[in-house]
Amino acid sequence: MAPWRALGRRRRDGVGSGSSMALGMEWLLRPWKELLPGLTTRALQRQYRYRCRHGPPHRAKRLLLSQLFQPLNLREDSVAGLESKPDDLTCKSQRLMIQAGLIHPSSPGCYYYMPYTVRAMEKLVKVIDQEMQAIGGQKLNMPSLSSAELWRTSGRWDLMGKELFRLADRHSKEYCLGPTHEETIADLIASQGNLSYKQLPLLLYQITRKFRDEPKPRFGLLRSREFYMKDMYTFDTCEEAGRQTYSLVCEAYCNVFNSLGFRFVKVQADTGSIGGSMSHEFQLPASIGEDRLMICSNCSFSANVETINPDQTDCPVCKGKLSETKGIEVGHTFYLGTKYSSVFNVIFHTAQNKPVLAEMGCYGLGITRILAASVEVLSTEDSIRWPTLIAPYQVCLIPPKKGSREEMGAMLMDNLYDSIVEAVPQIKGEAVLDDRTHLTIGKRLKDANRLGYPYVVIAGKKVFDNPPEFEVWNQNTGEIMFLTKEGVIDLLSKVQVP
Ligand SMILES: [Zn+2]
Repeated sequence: MAPWRALGRRRRDGVGSGSSMALGMEWLLRPWKELLPGLTTRALQRQYRYRCRHGPPHRAKRLLLSQLFQPLNLREDSVAGLESKPDDLTCKSQRLMIQAGLIHPSSPGCYYYMPYTVRAMEKLVKVIDQEMQAIGGQKLNMPSLSSAELWRTSGRWDLMGKELFRLADRHSKEYCLGPTHEETIADLIASQGNLSYKQLPLLLYQITRKFRDEPKPRFGLLRSREFYMKDMYTFDTCEEAGRQTYSLVCEAYCNVFNSLGFRFVKVQADTGSIGGSMSHEFQLPASIGEDRLMICSNCSFSANVETINPDQTDCPVCKGKLSETKGIEVGHTFYLGTKYSSVFNVIFHTAQNKPVLAEMGCYGLGITRILAASVEVLSTEDSIRWPTLIAPYQVCLIPPKKGSREEMGAMLMDNLYDSIVEAVPQIKGEAVLDDRTHLTIGKRLKDANRLGYPYVVIAGKKVFDNPPEFEVWNQNTGEIMFLTKEGVIDLLSKVQVP
């Protein structure tokens, strides 16, 4: 019998648990004992048997994949309805996110965001909060139910047409579910009668659910009817100050996309139904993008085709060649001037106590769209990749299959997990132990790929080396490393979590 099997076997005749057997096992246990100091060979055997009977100890402390609400769990045949409606899967991010159980379709254009997705979203929100607050942004929260009166005042109740989700309350008073909040914020600021020039610039933002009755919801979270957006509204004393604030917010947007590691372009854009005198879009180049962009090969000029003559091939700035690409719009900024402040009477008082209309800007970042766009542009055909900073979990640890030659590596994996969490505080809550040991390592590695952990650690054959080594996959670079426990801890200590 192989020694690693003898060790795990429960024998009532004393063979396999006595000292004679333990002596024979010394060669195998030596490196392990160095990692698990203070444990005698017998204690090690005892722990191993306990584990066989009751599963790993300290269950509550470790994040076990089997206990996470992750409906995939993770077999293709368990994804309900996928085979029956292949036409509904209109792009890579939608397909990958549904297959991995990250989102679950509810009604057309509406999704459940499952726990992994919400983790990524909360991290993205943190990244955005940091950038918005760095430029003086203050977070508030406005009602989603927006009264028709406000929209009639701006003239958009009719202008928005069928895009607005409209409803009436029990008194037949009309509302819409806000797709954007220019009217609402202008009404709020106007109601604060005594706004002073000393309080400006005022940068207010919220991150909330928005609603848009899309004629053709598609591409999963890229074009849904219910979505999360960060919308900021700014108020300034004059046009010059307003344009300065506009540049400041655009810079903050660049910081957000840079910290996520995106290749993006900022293009001149049409002001559409929002209005105003200047507008830019932040676009991620992608083949499924719905926007056509013209980019100059010579200078930084880039524009949405909507804003220029579609037949134009020369750059209006430097006469260089324009080339066309498609993009996913993830951010949009508008310089509004006094379009809304004049209608809602958003005034502030100058140093001479003179009432003056405030100059406004508005700025959107599609939160759920950025999540889907990340998956769209970074993933391969069958493996999700997240920007490391916002990945739902940073690392997945895969212990050996039950009954395999390396089975005892499971204890080393438990020890590694505990050591990581203890030594690297930011990884606490970021490490998942894939305890589905009835599955092969290969099967679980495939699942880990589909969920997109930046790092996967496997207890493979080298756990019997002295010192034991773990197989570490850096999913974003494709690199595979063999590292000791200290090596793994050192690697993970460099991981940033927002
Ligand atoms: Zn140019």
